[in-house]
Amino acid sequence: MVVVSRVLFLLLILFLNATVPVFGEDVPVVEFDSNSTKIDLKSYIQILPDPDQNFSLSDVVNEKSAKFQSVAEIGNSFGFSTAAYWVVFSLHMGQELQHDIFLQLEYPLSDHVAVFIPDGVGGYISKVTGDSLRFTQREVKHRSFLFRIPAHKSVETRQYYVRIQSDGATQIALSLWKTETFIEYVDGNNLLLGIYYGIMLLLMFAAFGSYVKLKDTIFLFFALYLFSYLLFQFSVNGFSYQYLWPELPWFTSRATAAFIGVFVVSGAFFSGSFLQVWGGRHPRVKLLLIGLIVLGAVGALLCLFGDFRFALQLSAVAGLSMPPIVLIATISSLNAGYKPARYFLAACFVFLLGVFVTGLLYIGLLPHTGFTQNAMQIGSVVEVVLIGYALLDRIELLRIGKEEATVQANEYLRQLNERLEILVAERTRKLKEKNKKLIKIAVQDGMTGLLNHKASLDFLKLRESSAKRYGKNLAVIMLDIDRFKRINDRFGHPAGDKVIIAIAATLKSTLRESDGCGRYGGEEFLLILPELGVQDVCFLAERIRKKIEELKIFEIDNLPVTASLGVAVFNPLMPDENLISLADRALYEAKHSGRNRVVIADSGQGVK
Ligand code: GH3
Ligand code: MG
Ligand code: MG
Repeated sequence: MVVVSRVLFLLLILFLNATVPVFGEDVPVVEFDSNSTKIDLKSYIQILPDPDQNFSLSDVVNEKSAKFQSVAEIGNSFGFSTAAYWVVFSLHMGQELQHDIFLQLEYPLSDHVAVFIPDGVGGYISKVTGDSLRFTQREVKHRSFLFRIPAHKSVETRQYYVRIQSDGATQIALSLWKTETFIEYVDGNNLLLGIYYGIMLLLMFAAFGSYVKLKDTIFLFFALYLFSYLLFQFSVNGFSYQYLWPELPWFTSRATAAFIGVFVVSGAFFSGSFLQVWGGRHPRVKLLLIGLIVLGAVGALLCLFGDFRFALQLSAVAGLSMPPIVLIATISSLNAGYKPARYFLAACFVFLLGVFVTGLLYIGLLPHTGFTQNAMQIGSVVEVVLIGYALLDRIELLRIGKEEATVQANEYLRQLNERLEILVAERTRKLKEKNKKLIKIAVQDGMTGLLNHKASLDFLKLRESSAKRYGKNLAVIMLDIDRFKRINDRFGHPAGDKVIIAIAATLKSTLRESDGCGRYGGEEFLLILPELGVQDVCFLAERIRKKIEELKIFEIDNLPVTASLGVAVFNPLMPDENLISLADRALYEAKHSGRNRVVIADSGQGVK
């Protein structure tokens, strides 16, 4: 905010036509001898306003001199006025003075400056400069206005005249310098200014770098804020004209004024973002800041492209309104509990301190020392560092918020994962079940739950290969229901189905888990019986036959059902024999030899 206060005071001068009283009425003669180094002419000059700019040098020298007034009476700082100001001072040079001395006008934004140096024989030599001329046309190419005053050997006191006219403000700060002293001063001053601009540039680049890295626009606004202030300061110091646009005299005062507007706009954007005004929590403060931005933007644009005097007044109003508005924003943000605003408030205090020091300086209660003169610059660095702290505080707050958010997000993810795992397990279970069902469907006979035709063959193949490899027993039985057509014809197809189902159940309950039992065709069954020899299989087949014979099935009025069975046994001596064909043939045998019987392949005899 010290940054602001500097702008503020320049604006006050521009806007309010402030007069700065100096105490004491006498206007003495300037004594400059070989021991003099620098003499501030404030108490040696007299000023004559020329409102219509129509006085000539001879008017001033001869007639109007009575109307000259001292700085104590009229001040040395004039606001918006197109008037020209004539200045006179009396100079007596020491006899032993060998070299020219410098007359300096410190305010680099003066438009027209003319110096009239007495030639000793009643005439005057004039030198003309000002920022309405190209920088390169200056006699001494320095950011302030410098004139060589030749040393004269005569003893008399001579009158020197200076005419200053500006469209903006006019400040009359004149000094006489011994050349060597001026060089030494410039050296030291340039070092100080270099350090100052270096620090501010560094902060600006740091802010911009943070913007590039963090993509947080607040840093961009801060960088812009510093950039516009730096340009403004650079212009007020006369550097912009010297180094940036020395060939554009029309631009220099307009640009300087426009930077005030840009500064206000970027400052308002920055403060608004930092203090979280844009979110809508402080609607009135938001309105104030938006008004400020509009005012600054219009002021800046008009400074460059419109009526300059009006634009300057607009920018001045914007600049003057900025500190109170930012203070209001800071306080309402603090009231809302936003902690990083503390540093902003501290920056505001530095600003007030800056105002205080500058005020005391301007009303002459503080001397123009190296400190007071540079208090603004020092203050602006302190202010910017404080704002930097504020930004760090804000980042810390964001970081903590982010960490909390990360913990929450992790917990949420964990829960989500848990739920997902449960869901996946459930899905997998269902899929397995479905798969089981599918496999069942693929291998099972739908009506009886026995193996289907293909699965029966696959089972047999498997058992055959293991019988061949390990020389184990294996038997198969082919079973066909006797006279089934008749059952169908008499009791209907559904009743026939019940018979098939009843026989299948009998088979299942009679066989072992490791046996294969399949529905080979309509009412034909294939039984695969590992590790059964001829005796055992005959015994089993007979048991089955009997069990079927004894079945009582309600749907066919408990009439007896019989079946014929063909048995084949694996013979290790003839491993490639087709067991199914053998069993089939045996079944055929059984049918032809009267049904309801068991026939063993090769034996050629049915067994009953
Ligand atoms: P045989 O003693 O010579 O075996 O006489 P059969 O009447 O049983 O003659 P065959 O085996 O040639 O006839 C089988 C009949 O079984 C033919 C068909 O209508 C019937 N059938 C086949 N599949 C089914 C079925 O799933 N349900 C019913 N109800 N009948 C079937
Ligand atoms: Mg049949
Ligand atoms: Mg049959």
